[in-house]
Amino acid sequence: MELWSRRKFFLTSLAGSAIAGAGKLFGSTPSANSSSASALANPAAAAQGKRPLIISSANGLHALGKGMDILKQGGDTLEAVVVAVTIVEDDPNDDSVGYGGLPNEEGVVELDASVMHGPTYRAGSVAAVRNIKNVSRLAKTVMEKTNHVMIVGDGARRFGVDEGFEEINLLTDHSRKIWLAWKASTSFNWRPGIDSPEWKQRVSEIFNGDAAQIAYAERVIAHPPTGTIPCMAVDAKGDISATTTTSGLAWKIPGRVGDSPIIGAGCCVDNEVGAAGSTGKGEENIKISGGRIIVEMMRQGKSPTDACLEAMGRVAKHYKNDKTKLGTFHLYFYAINKDGVHGAASLWRNGYEENKQASYAVHDGTESRLVPCTPYFDAAGGDQ
Ligand code: ASP
Repeated sequence: MELWSRRKFFLTSLAGSAIAGAGKLFGSTPSANSSSASALANPAAAAQGKRPLIISSANGLHALGKGMDILKQGGDTLEAVVVAVTIVEDDPNDDSVGYGGLPNEEGVVELDASVMHGPTYRAGSVAAVRNIKNVSRLAKTVMEKTNHVMIVGDGARRFGVDEGFEEINLLTDHSRKIWLAWKASTSFNWRPGIDSPEWKQRVSEIFNGDAAQIAYAERVIAHPPTGTIPCMAVDAKGDISATTTTSGLAWKIPGRVGDSPIIGAGCCVDNEVGAAGSTGKGEENIKISGGRIIVEMMRQGKSPTDACLEAMGRVAKHYKNDKTKLGTFHLYFYAINKDGVHGAASLWRNGYEENKQASYAVHDGTESRLVPCTPYFDAAGGDQ
């Protein structure tokens, strides 16, 4: 229910007063000085420019410490980011990544991931991989053991098996039940819609009446979630690497690939400049090659935050800044530069968590903390 009311709030906001406030950043890309202005107002952002540094989307908050340990010991930046996201891939309770990710429309989990190693300018990626949990490590293995950059589908699975990756069923009981609930809301025989008593009855059976689980299922069915963890690091010497790993869009058509495994979209590194990653509706990012744009903007002197806002502006421009059309999705960009400055932009102010401003996770050697994303539109939020 919560999310439905959030959706209502969101639509109301679009139609009403929030739209007036929504335009603060709209139509003009903030100047290169804007992020330093916000750094003064925001103590979390004030500690900018420290190395080593590792950042990720908010769901990596608890995982960055492990990556930081590697960086502090002088380990490789790519190993640091892969170790960090592996914790999230292994977590059955994170249903946006790895084990327990929400499945495609046939109930099969398909994962995408990419890596890029700045010091050697190498990359690896895998897409639509079934039955292998740690696809960021698999993407790193593509980079290290082959002269290819991208391997997809069953070829990627078989490559992983040959390289010693264990095959498992990635669908947990929890994600299977949510998929069953989704199927009940869309199948030909049912089609009752999630507001109908029939669907509520069916879902109550699936979850044995557990109210929290039912509310969660309602939310992810009304708003097919995306979710991912991009992670990027710069070490004390200024070497940079990044990875992005995801189960992609829930209920996708089998074989659908998002931006996460696309080098230059969901993951991009240039060791002279910095790194960028993304979460949210991958199709929108792919169309603008967001990761590459952000890196090139930083090369021209923009701060990571302003570079992310510039990329967001490209997406918005293709919809003629129409907030109703843009309101059907959400998108986030994250970036670091070689000096250890970090930033992120969200298309809408609020993030995945109900009524909370979107944030990302930063560890600069002392602790892992959440830092607000800079919203492109200062209005509540989009659907995904
Ligand atoms: N960007 C990912 C994709 O489109 C999903 C996400 O970040 O939530 O597959």
